[in-house]
Amino acid sequence: MSKVLIIGAGGVGNVVAHKCAWAKDVFTEIMLASRTLSKCDQIAQDVLHFTGVKIQTAKVDADNVPELVKLIKSFGPKMIINVALPYQDLHIMDACLETGVHYLDTANYEPIDVAKFEYSWQWAYQDKFKKAGLMALLGCGFDPGVTGVFTAYAQKHHFDELHYLDIVDCNAGDHGKSFATNFNPEINIREITQKGKYWENGQWIEIDPLSIHQAVDYPHIGAKESYLLYHEELESLVKNFPTLKRARFWMTFSQNYITHLRVLENVGLTGIKPIKYQGIDIVPLQFLKAVLPEPSSLGENYQGQTSIGCQIKGVKDGNDKTYFVYNNCDHAVVYKECKAQAIAYTTGVPASIGATLMMRNEWMKPGVYNVEEFNPDPFMAELNKKGLPWHEQVNEKLAF
Ligand code: NDP
Repeated sequence: MSKVLIIGAGGVGNVVAHKCAWAKDVFTEIMLASRTLSKCDQIAQDVLHFTGVKIQTAKVDADNVPELVKLIKSFGPKMIINVALPYQDLHIMDACLETGVHYLDTANYEPIDVAKFEYSWQWAYQDKFKKAGLMALLGCGFDPGVTGVFTAYAQKHHFDELHYLDIVDCNAGDHGKSFATNFNPEINIREITQKGKYWENGQWIEIDPLSIHQAVDYPHIGAKESYLLYHEELESLVKNFPTLKRARFWMTFSQNYITHLRVLENVGLTGIKPIKYQGIDIVPLQFLKAVLPEPSSLGENYQGQTSIGCQIKGVKDGNDKTYFVYNNCDHAVVYKECKAQAIAYTTGVPASIGATLMMRNEWMKPGVYNVEEFNPDPFMAELNKKGLPWHEQVNEKLAF
């Protein structure tokens, strides 16, 4: 029986609000707060329509800690689900510590002026959260998030030792726009234009952006060209599963997407250093975000599926074993449920599940944690109940 404050009213915030509203036995009162109040109000209207639950809304700048603290004190939540942007993570964690509130997010902290994401900044809060008797759950979307739970589940039920992990992420959907990103354009483009990186034999290997790729066969979709990227869960997974000899992340992009991205890069529109335009400083990537479609607006005509999973090789009882666990999610089906597209849905559902497990004390210990550090079983059971059923293949041929 808990009050929850959701921060961020984008595509993911919309899904989290709907899923928390459905979980009436866990979340007794819900507030959705974000920078633009009208977006919160629109979501509240949709939540009422789809679930019959009335949620409260508020305007807040989550980078302004005193303003946030004031809002938290007036509403009195037991936890905050942060689905704003990675830039806000530390500010929201600070506000949680000041007000005695638990914390969950779906993306690790990134400084706004350097395109670099890593857990060090948030892991550094470990002692403060422990001392305060509060918990922070990091990266509880799909990837990061479910991919960590899948890996923990594989370790618990299928392997003595994990050796090779390949996370494979495919969006085979078509939204009908010439170019759009499926989650916040600024964060998405910063991630993809960085150097790629993977873990092998105890060290990180860096590669040029999108320079390694191969076709991967995705269930119910078929072969799609997949590009090796650095993705944040690799950092915590190689730490928490030290037997891994190699860990990589692959994501599909259409040729059309890559061509658009290259052109935008070539003309300087993906840059994050301010430039002078008519006497004012503007950041090219932030300007680009402003002219691209909002990720939350893509759902209406989106057709096709996503497929995200973990392909793992390792050893069980002295024998080599392969294991593949994945979820497919259909854009049109989830649009009917809550006006979402599948990328927002596959992020928002796990965030609401993580929050549910925290509030039920099934996943609750003071400190700062990644999802794979908890018992994966209740999470896996909830995925099946909450709209993201998973499937597994044992000892079948893997892509890698
Ligand atoms: P959107 O851009 O659609 O939404 C972000 C929301 O945060 C907007 O409502 C925005 O407000 C709000 N916001 C931004 N800055 C502030 C601030 N200072 N104070 C209060 N609110 C603010 O993004 P998405 O919904 O697509 O993504 C949300 C998060 O989910 C991102 O961090 C993203 O990286 C993460 N994500 C994680 C995935 C995973 O699998 N783990 C996958 C996909 C996304 P405004 O409308 O005014 O701009």
